[in-house]
Amino acid sequence: MTKESIYGLTRKEMEERLVEMGEKAFRAEQIWQWLYRKRVGSFEEMTNLSESLRQDLEDQFNFSPLKEEIVQRAEDKTTKFLFQLADKSMIETVLMYHHYGLSVCVTTQIGCNIGCRFCASGLLPKQRDLTTGEIVAQIMYIQRYLDARGEGDKVSHIVVMGIGEPFDNYDNVMRFLRIVNDDKGLAIGARHITVSTSGLAPKIREFAHEGIQVNLAVSLHASNNEVRSSMMRINRKYPMEELFDAIYEYTDLTNRRVTFEHIMIDDVNDRPEHAQELADLLKPMRKLAYVNLIPYNPVPENPYRRSKPEAITKFFDVLMQNNINCVVRKEFGTEIEAACGQLRSQYERKRRERRQREKA
Ligand code: SAH
Ligand code: SF4
Repeated sequence: MTKESIYGLTRKEMEERLVEMGEKAFRAEQIWQWLYRKRVGSFEEMTNLSESLRQDLEDQFNFSPLKEEIVQRAEDKTTKFLFQLADKSMIETVLMYHHYGLSVCVTTQIGCNIGCRFCASGLLPKQRDLTTGEIVAQIMYIQRYLDARGEGDKVSHIVVMGIGEPFDNYDNVMRFLRIVNDDKGLAIGARHITVSTSGLAPKIREFAHEGIQVNLAVSLHASNNEVRSSMMRINRKYPMEELFDAIYEYTDLTNRRVTFEHIMIDDVNDRPEHAQELADLLKPMRKLAYVNLIPYNPVPENPYRRSKPEAITKFFDVLMQNNINCVVRKEFGTEIEAACGQLRSQYERKRRERRQREKA
C-alpha cells in the first residue's frame, strides 16, 4: 500500500498525529518549517528531530506522490509539468511568470465529470478526486524545482484552474487552501489565490461562509441560459438564475469581487448583442463584477473555434462602454499546448494508441 503524503496534513492535524504518536505538539511546527520553509525532501534531513521520530515519520508518510513524466518550458518561461501518480494516473500542473509574480495552476481531479463541451479535461470522465496531499505536492514540486534553479524565485500566486472541478472535490480543496495559506508554512496570501468553478451553486454558498479571503472565479462563458446550456450541461442543473442567487449570497456576505471567465468562441457566444446582454446581467453587481475574456484554445475533438480578434475587441468595447471591468487574458506558452488538460489528453491519446498497437 502507498503511504500517505506528509503534505496532506494541516498543521493542526499534524499536531494531533504527533500527540497520538506520543510526541509533543510543538514538533509539528518544526516539521512544518522543514517542509515549507527549508523545503527538504526527506525526513532524514530534519536534524532537530530525534532519530526515532524520524523513523516513525518515515514509516507512516512519504513526501511527494508525484513522479515527473514530462517538463516543457516555453520561450516566455511558462513551464508545464506532467506528473504520474502512484496509481499511474497522469496530472498536469503549469507554472507561469507574470510581472507581479509567479503563479501555479493546479489540478484537483483526474478527469472531470462536468463535461463542458469545449474542454479537453471534460473529455475523460472523472476517475477520482485528488487527495489533499496530491494537490499540495504540485505546489511543493514546483517550489523545489525553483529552489534548485537557484534564482530565488518563489511561487506567489495560485490558480485552481487545472483539470477538474474544484468544488466537486470541495473538502480536499479547502484543506489544500488552508495548508498553502498557513502563515507558518508557504504563507501564500489568500488574496493571491483564485478558485475557479463551473458554477456549482450550493458549493458557492458554502464557500461564502468559509471566512477565507480566497478569490472566486466563475466560468460563466455565456450571457443567457440557452447559449450556456449548449456549452455546459451543468447549466441545466444550476441555471443562471440559481447561479446568480448563490453569487449574490457570496458578494453580500464577503463584499468581495467575483471574476467571470468568458471564453471567446467564434459565433457561439461572442456577438455584440451577447456582450450587451452580459453587461446588463452584471450591472447590478457594479464594481464587484470583473470579466476575463479568454481567447478559446481549440481542442481537436470538438467543433468550436476561436473568436476573430475583431470580435474580441468589439466585445471588450461594449463591456467597457457599459462600465463593466474587463480584461482580455494574456496567453501563456502557446507553443506548449497551453490550455490546461491538453498536454495530458494528448499524452493519454498517445498512450491508448500505443496500447492498441501493442495488442494488435
Ligand atoms: N473546472 C473549473 C476550473 C478548471 S477550468 C472551471 O471550469 O471553472 C479553468 C478555466 O479554463 C475555465 O474557465 C474553463 O472554462 C476554461 N477552459 C477550459 N477549456 C478551455 C479551452 N480549450 N480554452 C480556453 N479556456 C478553456
Ligand atoms: Fe470540468 Fe472546468 Fe473543463 Fe468544465 S471547463 S469540463 S468544469 S475542467
